[in-house]
Amino acid sequence: MSTNSLPKRYLITAALPYANGLKHIGHLAGAYLPADTYVRYLRAQKRDVVFVCGSDEHGTAIPIQATKEGTTAQAIIDKYHPIIEQNFKDLGISFDIYHRTSAPIHHETAREFFKTLNDKGDLITKESEQYFDETAQSFLADRYIKGTCPNCSHPGAYGDQCESCGKSLSPDELINPVSTLSGNAPIKKLTKHWYLPLDRHEAFLRKWILEEHANDWRATVVGQCKSWIDGGLLPRAVTRDLDWGVTLPDDVVDGKGKVLYVWFDAPIGYISATKQWALDNEKDWKPYWESKDTKLVHFIGKDNIVFHCIIFPVMLQLHGNILPENVPANEFMNLEGDKMSTSRNWKLEMEDYINDFIKPENGGSQMADVLRYYLTAIAPESKDSEFTWKGFQDANNSELVSIFGNFVNRALVLMHKLCKGKVPPLHAAAMDELDHETIANIKAAKEKVEKLIEEYKFRDALFEVINLARIGNQYMQKKEPWIIAKTLDTNPDGQQLIDNCLHICLQLTGNLAILINPFLPFTAKKICYLLKVVDRILDWENAGSLKLVSVGYSLRPPELLFRKIEDEEICKQVEKLKAAAVHKEVTPAVEAKQEEKAITVKPEIVFDDFAKIDLKVGTIVSAEKVEKADKLLKLQVDLGFEVRTIVSGIAMHFDPAAIVGKQVTVVTNLAPRKMRGIESNGMILMAEDAVGKLHFINPETAIDNGSGVS
Ligand SMILES: [Zn+2]
Repeated sequence: MSTNSLPKRYLITAALPYANGLKHIGHLAGAYLPADTYVRYLRAQKRDVVFVCGSDEHGTAIPIQATKEGTTAQAIIDKYHPIIEQNFKDLGISFDIYHRTSAPIHHETAREFFKTLNDKGDLITKESEQYFDETAQSFLADRYIKGTCPNCSHPGAYGDQCESCGKSLSPDELINPVSTLSGNAPIKKLTKHWYLPLDRHEAFLRKWILEEHANDWRATVVGQCKSWIDGGLLPRAVTRDLDWGVTLPDDVVDGKGKVLYVWFDAPIGYISATKQWALDNEKDWKPYWESKDTKLVHFIGKDNIVFHCIIFPVMLQLHGNILPENVPANEFMNLEGDKMSTSRNWKLEMEDYINDFIKPENGGSQMADVLRYYLTAIAPESKDSEFTWKGFQDANNSELVSIFGNFVNRALVLMHKLCKGKVPPLHAAAMDELDHETIANIKAAKEKVEKLIEEYKFRDALFEVINLARIGNQYMQKKEPWIIAKTLDTNPDGQQLIDNCLHICLQLTGNLAILINPFLPFTAKKICYLLKVVDRILDWENAGSLKLVSVGYSLRPPELLFRKIEDEEICKQVEKLKAAAVHKEVTPAVEAKQEEKAITVKPEIVFDDFAKIDLKVGTIVSAEKVEKADKLLKLQVDLGFEVRTIVSGIAMHFDPAAIVGKQVTVVTNLAPRKMRGIESNGMILMAEDAVGKLHFINPETAIDNGSGVS
């Protein structure tokens, strides 16, 4: 990117977290961490940047959570907003403002936005029959109505989504709907609502996304937009019959008792947050949303693509605002073999990580950087990725500790030992090819990292930084200044070689601080402290410099940047995760599933029917994942008389290595079936508990393989 094409200012947004509960590391990895990395880089480039975020505090899930916790909607948002804000701070997410949509300035801004569009004729109104609870005298929006899912027959699906299969629903699609307020069957009643006619804007969206941004946006984002547009855009309701949210302007006819639909008001939260930031800092907010030389970038997870790429841009366009330059949405991050889920309690909350790791005695804020490191190293930028505690430990121990931390520590230790604690000079005449090559690598790293960050490839950019540390280690290893030190009596030029090596290593350390700063800000600061340089050195323009630490300057004694993470620590986390998932509180969805199971009794059969099934006990002798099939394991099961290949859909529930040696019950006379090209010769019996976890059916103590079951 050439300097003259640089935008004048940047406005960076990260998806507004919904304030109905704590947020997990999947959220962090999806939107907040990449946004923060980008913003820290821009700040180091001394560009004009504002980073806004805040709590999304409207929608029906908030009052419903309030009912669940026996309190008010206001109390719910007042409880979660400050915790989420503090969690972000503890993990180094450096918003310029963390606002909230319950703030009066947001209500005014959202109302004005609606009014402008409505007055211009950009909204349409429609009367339609919607579900109404006569007992509660209330229309039943979204989560206030439940019924059977038309897609998967789950009996507790909500009016906006089925939590069992994940499908988006409208209340009309529910089978046997009931009100969650009274439990009664609702009636239909006529009501008027405002709609954003997206169908009017198809041509604009096609041109803007599928032509102008076809190449600079992520393929996954463009692909999702294309399928939305190709699927046909429909008018989308902007209002709701609800008493929690942003009320319509007073002068709107029939607007009483209605609020803006949460998807409409939430993204306007970015604008109101910018306004509040401007007020607090005596700035003008308008250029950030109205001037063409502002670069607007939305960081989000993939579940938010339609809102940020299709709906909000249409709103912005109609309202006369600028459009986003890019929407680098991430895919999802799974956890230990399964999708992260709040309802199934399969998650690692930011709050939990902070409580368990970020304490002074555990390494303090450096441990925030360890999480930032691992989440960036496995960032789901182009496809879903997976957080495992083992992976977390490996990333820390074999990359941060062994490569990055080790290099910085050795450079400082050797400088103290071999150069009297002062930065040694560089003796040009004594430099060799390796010295020049290493310096060239230091200079080249800046451009590589810069290019990748500008392209939102944070994972690759971080890899380049670690690679520079790796180059430093190799350089030191080849130079062996500690060996030269032993030969100084017979080698008068030896000290010059030692000086050159450590001079270059210390300048490389300074460069590592600058390059790692957008990713691991606490570590960058710590290096500055050790080098006794001011934080200003972290300005991006200093990257590539070989004058970061001055010759003759004395530095602080070395301290380790990262500590090793022990097996016990991660075992404890895995156990905690599993225990929480099993002992979790039973949610309404699970309750409904349990009820459904209780009543599923199959029709009576005679003994002869049962006797046709041949059941035998066998031992799993090997287990491996089936390629490109998340759910399947290929098992070899020893049945005593033969070893069978059986493909089983249990990969999300068991670690293949952990089940080898386990006895199981096998249906041995099931007709063979091909799955993913592998012939499966039998079926393993499993029991499913209330939370959907699978268990083997096996004898209490080990018995002979091939024993019959009847
Ligand atoms: Zn469903």
